[in-house]
Amino acid sequence: MVSVTPQQGFDAIVIGSGIGGLTVAAILAKLQGKRVLVLEQHFTPGGFTHSFERLQKFHWDVGLHYVGDMGEGSTGRAVFDYITNGQLKWQKMPDPFEKFVYPDFTFAVSADPLRYQADLIQLFPDEQVAIRQYFRDVKQAVLWFGIQTMLELFPSWLHPLLKPIIHRFGAIARETTQTYLDRNFQDIRLQALLTSQWGDYGLPPSESCFGVHSLIVSHYLHGGWYPVGGGQAIAKSIMPVIAQTGGTILTQRRVTEILLHENTAIGVKVEKPNSLPEYYYAPIVISDAGAFNTYLHLIPPSYPLPYRDSIRAFPKGNSMLTVYLGLKESPEKLGFRGENHWIYTSYNHNAVPLASPLTFTPPFCYLSFPSLKDPLASAHTAEIIAHVNYDFFRQWREQPWRRRGTDYTQLKRQITESLIQLVEKHYPGFQDLIEYAELSTPLSIEYFDASDRGAVYGIPCVPERFDQPWIGAKTPIKNLYLTGTDAFSLGIMGAMMGGVKTAGLIQGPFGFAKIMSTIMQNAARTSNRNPELQVSRE
Ligand SMILES: Cc1cc2nc3c(=O)[nH]c(=O)nc-3n(C[C@H](O)[C@H](O)[C@H](O)COP(=O)(O)OP(=O)(O)OC[C@H]3O[C@@H](n4cnc5c(N)ncnc54)[C@H](O)[C@@H]3O)c2cc1C
Repeated sequence: MVSVTPQQGFDAIVIGSGIGGLTVAAILAKLQGKRVLVLEQHFTPGGFTHSFERLQKFHWDVGLHYVGDMGEGSTGRAVFDYITNGQLKWQKMPDPFEKFVYPDFTFAVSADPLRYQADLIQLFPDEQVAIRQYFRDVKQAVLWFGIQTMLELFPSWLHPLLKPIIHRFGAIARETTQTYLDRNFQDIRLQALLTSQWGDYGLPPSESCFGVHSLIVSHYLHGGWYPVGGGQAIAKSIMPVIAQTGGTILTQRRVTEILLHENTAIGVKVEKPNSLPEYYYAPIVISDAGAFNTYLHLIPPSYPLPYRDSIRAFPKGNSMLTVYLGLKESPEKLGFRGENHWIYTSYNHNAVPLASPLTFTPPFCYLSFPSLKDPLASAHTAEIIAHVNYDFFRQWREQPWRRRGTDYTQLKRQITESLIQLVEKHYPGFQDLIEYAELSTPLSIEYFDASDRGAVYGIPCVPERFDQPWIGAKTPIKNLYLTGTDAFSLGIMGAMMGGVKTAGLIQGPFGFAKIMSTIMQNAARTSNRNPELQVSRE
């Protein structure tokens, strides 16, 4: 076997440069002085936070439209400031920051949670008691979600004691969102309104658990923020922190195997285009490639894992279509201010994933304007997103990127047109703004992010997710950890906290608490140096 070892002497290897991988790498470097190697299969680092460019002026993010909990003094902001050495700035979105658009009415979501609640009560006065209770239940479900997710940080001898208590306390969080809605609300329009953000966790109310629904609702209760310079600014500002201790990110390096010696991870085998395999060794190996990829593709099949079949059989997450649009002029012309628009053709969110691109009439789309959120944008852009089932695209899977045949290109054109028309119907004049359009399908996500079936939120947050021993940062293999979405939760914040959690586990007893305490102290010291940017486009 040829063994090429271009650079060695790393203290830890991270597989994948998504926000989870970058966070754990930065914390290990900054807090423990570790030299970390991050290996990324894509040619651009950042995972779903990466951006791309067309016509040398249009920039789009592939997996970031807004992040919540980023106000001064918030935990999310403190962690981001820590891992970027305060180099990343955040732009607050306008208030209202979202609009829920239905055939017969539009609801503007305020970034003030009391105002949001009052607006709902004004529309549905008969359901006032249930609405107030809903916001209390959301709070409780979020608390439960946090405790449940952090359980693995407690010593294992405490688990038999803690698990039954946590299980009982989580009754509401563990039921499906639809079960909760049916029990508490009469009006289907109110049920639909409350779950209008379901695209943020990728599962309609009949499939998602109320815990993850609550996590997202609560995450955005104070509005949305956007990284100045776009998603790519995230990796750009974390990379120097990793480099400070001699660490680095190598792109176009696909890890094909985690190397084991007896029951211990000792390194990785890597494929690089037009090269011999490379082998890297380190005493710690961390995977940001997701539970599915790590357990089923990276750990050698000869290793006796008890739960391979259960991972294979577990429900799969939905994927997405995105139309990336370059605009001739500012969408402010049509009254847009940078808020997101969730456009629905019906109140039944549960029917949405059944949309078929073969007769594509989209029942729903999400519209956002990256250029209105980013003060550094060089040209105006928009994105239209729709959730879709991967299986509709499976037939073109084996064909190479950009050479998938005329039927695929024709289908893409059709889908692009119908999504633009759905927006046009609600916002006449929108299509006249368009200079450039490009569609990505689940196959693009699978190709660029290496995620199973182009799933965008990792292992889906159905109620059964909480019972799986393979969800979390710990693995049965010594010195091998998971990070990112499947170690904690979905979204930029969830995956980032997955990075903090993994760093905490590696640090040892009370590691997570110690890291968070350092991060919060850093935030208190630097709070006056990182003023929040306010929306001001006049
Ligand atoms: C269209 C879209 C819109 C979204 N919008 C938002 C939003 O507005 N707000 C929000 O909070 N979240 C949003 N998300 C979700 C969010 O982007 C993700 O949940 C989060 O970024 C996931 O981070 P991660 O670190 O877990 O994984 P990823 O970002 O998926 O990173 C995993 C990395 O591992 C690499 N990798 C995989 N296998 C290998 C291998 N074998 N070898 C080497 N590298 C490998 C991949 O290439 C990738 O770079 C969106 C996602 C999508 C797709």
